This record gives sequence, C-alpha cells and structure tokens, in this order.
Amino acid sequence: MALLSSDILELKEATRAFSDGEVAPVAQQLHLDDKEIPDDLLAKMADMGFFAVLASKEYGGLGLGAMAVAVVTEELSRGWFSVGALPARNWGSALLLEKHGTREQKERWLPGLVSGKLQAAHSGTEPEAGSDAANIKTTAVLQDGTYVLHGTKMWCTHANRADIISTFCRTSKDSKHGGISMLFVEKVRGDQFMPPQLTGSHIKTVGYHGMHSYQLFFDGFEVPASNLLGGVEGQAFKQLMAVYELARMQFAFRCIGLAQAAYESALEYSQSRVQFGQPICKFQAIRHKLADMATQIEAARQLGYMVAQKMDQGVRVDLEAGMVKLFASEMAHRVCHEAVQIHGGTGFAIDTAVNRYWRDSGLCTIGEGTSEVQREVIARRILGER
Ligand SMILES: Cc1cc2nc3c(=O)[nH]c(=O)nc-3n(C[C@H](O)[C@H](O)[C@H](O)COP(=O)(O)OP(=O)(O)OC[C@H]3O[C@@H](n4cnc5c(N)ncnc54)[C@H](O)[C@@H]3O)c2cc1C
Repeated sequence: MALLSSDILELKEATRAFSDGEVAPVAQQLHLDDKEIPDDLLAKMADMGFFAVLASKEYGGLGLGAMAVAVVTEELSRGWFSVGALPARNWGSALLLEKHGTREQKERWLPGLVSGKLQAAHSGTEPEAGSDAANIKTTAVLQDGTYVLHGTKMWCTHANRADIISTFCRTSKDSKHGGISMLFVEKVRGDQFMPPQLTGSHIKTVGYHGMHSYQLFFDGFEVPASNLLGGVEGQAFKQLMAVYELARMQFAFRCIGLAQAAYESALEYSQSRVQFGQPICKFQAIRHKLADMATQIEAARQLGYMVAQKMDQGVRVDLEAGMVKLFASEMAHRVCHEAVQIHGGTGFAIDTAVNRYWRDSGLCTIGEGTSEVQREVIARRILGER
C-alpha cells in the first residue's frame, strides 16, 4: 500500500473534516432540490485553499502537486460528488495558463483562479462532437483584433457561474485537430448569460446536481484576440496534453470518493437492518458484497496513488491515467449498485443518500472520456498503434 507523506495525510484529514462538517450535511437536500453548491460553501472552499492546491507558488498557489489533488478530490467527493468535481475546473484552467499562457494571461487570471475568486468552466463538447472532440463546428473568426464566435456547445458544466470558460473553437478548416484553438471566453455570472450573443439553457440531469450543465449558443459573441491561449492559433489539442493526465486521475478520485461514501452507507445499513432475526451483514451474500466493495475501492485508490505519485515525479503516465479512470469509474458504478442492493427497497427511495450516490455514479463512465473510448485508447497504446 502506498504510504502517504505526513503533509498529504494531514491535508486528507483536514479535507475529510471539512467534507464531514460542511459538505455532507447539506448535500442531500441540495441534491433533492436540484440546487447548486451554495455561494457560502464555495467561499469556504476558497478559504480552505482548495483552489490553490495545484498551482505553483510562483503564481500564488500551494504547489502541492498531484497527490494533493487526489486526496482532496476523494474526500470532497465522499461528501458530495459535485463538490469533488468543482475545483477541477480552476485547477485545469490554471495549469493550462501556467504551461501555455502568455505573461499577460497569467497575470490577469491566475491569481483569481488560485484564490477561487474567479470560477472557470470548460467547453469542448458540441452536439456533433462528443467523443470525437475534434469534430467541433463552433467558429472563431478574427476581425480587427477580436474573435467573433458562432456555434453551439453542449454540456458546459458550471457555465452559468463561471467567469471564464476555456472554449474549443475552430479557427481554421484546413486541419481537423490543428484547426482548433483554445479561447478564454470572459462572461458575466448568471443564468441569463449575455444575450443575444451568448445564451444558455440548463440541461436537466438525474444526478450531479451541485453544478448545472448548459447548452451554450454563441451568436456573434466577441472575444479579444489577447484571450487566445498562448497567443498562437491551432494549438488547443497540444495544449490540452498538459492537463489530460491530471484530469483523468482527478476524475478517478471523484469516483473513488463516491464509491467510498456508498460503501460506508451500505456497511452501516447492513449492521442495523435486521431480517430473519439477525443483522443482514451476517448473511454471507451481503458480507461478501461488502468485502468485494472494500477490495475494489482500495484497488482503485492504490492505482490512483501510483499515478499521482508518478505525476509528481514528472513521469509520463498517459496510459496509467486512462487505466485508473476506466477502472475507478466502472468500480464506482458497481459499488453504488451493490450499495443500493444492500439497502433493498430503501435504496430505491429517492430521499436516501445511497440513491443519490447511485444516480451520481451514472456519470462516472461517461464524463472525461467514456469507458469505450478509454478502452480504445489503452488498447492502441498496448498494441503499439501510435
Ligand atoms: C453531466 C455531464 C457533464 C459534462 N460536462 C462537460 C463539460 O463541462 N465540458 C465539456 O466539454 N463536456 C462535458 N460533458 C460532455 C462529456 O465529455 C461527453 O458526454 C462525453 O465526452 C461523451 O460524448 P457524447 O455524450 O457526445 O457521447 P458520444 O461520443 O456520442 O458517445 C455515444 C456512445 O458511443 C460510444 N463511442 C463513441 N465513439 C466511440 C469509439 N470510437 N469507439 C467505441 N465507442 C464509441 C461512447 O462510448 C458512448 O457509449 C459532460 C457530460 C455530462 C453528461
């Protein structure tokens, strides 16, 4: 088992205390009401320094690295899957800026992203470009120092509350991947967006309620040319390489935190629910489920720690990051399903926390690269096809 350093253990414990005290008590009702993570909770997360975990000290961050991302994400997600997902937007944007931003872009946005005062979202997906991310149609045409955007985006999570959205746009039709650029779209906060040039509609979902996802419509929305990441067109895919290992590892720890919460609720329920004169954990069918759940969670966690550790050592882990995303997401699916099964009919009642875990787990194998696509990427690597 990977040994966590005392600093990382301390961070994990502090995050767990925060999650138990501030996140878990409000998560269920907010989920049931389909309400977003409240502003005061967001402010408390900022005060805790969660948005600053990754960014280097040079830019006002804590510079704690990938292992810190892993433990913070797991503990926040154990409280509420949506809360574990929230800081990832700022971490990703800050990393993109650190690696590829111009000096002016870093100075303009990094302090706000690190403190949490600025909220970020990412918009890549479109109606015809999901797994096939390079098939985007949204255009950004440069006119007198300004990019003018036209097109429709899908599933932009946190778009309403974000101040900046890293947006995939087509700046050239000549090359599929090489014609795509990353523009930082600045907008005002709110569900109204900035009509008529930028409007959005909330996509209702069965879970992941703490952050709402939007379809966005750009109709002549103007973005200054200085908001082009790194100031060079056609680099979006290369620039994303800087974040995708981290994004997959981080997503895996969201799944691990979610599965841990589901397992804990099933464990507790199995000890208190009595049938045939004894707690149901005494039945082999149930206790073996619990054993499998605990084992699978730990296997995912240890694989995730290995990936994070290697990232912190500067070792390339594109293959392993895909593996842990695939494994942890499918593990969370299974564990949440078994947790509902252990709760019997109670697990099917919408009011129960275990039902929330189960609903949230539906996203695990879809977001951040579907299981099918992850398998294909892994297969290509192990077959030496690229
Ligand atoms: C709640 C939620 C939040 C999201 N948030 C964001 C966000 O903030 N920003 C953002 O940009 N996107 C976001 N997404 C989009 C997400 O990344 C996509 O849903 C995902 O990439 C899959 O794309 P798709 O839904 O278009 O499915 P498709 O790509 O159409 O896939 C449909 C099915 O076909 C399979 N498939 C596709 N291609 C292949 C292939 N080559 N081989 C085998 N099988 C294949 C898929 O695995 C899947 O089973 C979000 C999605 C959801 C549901």
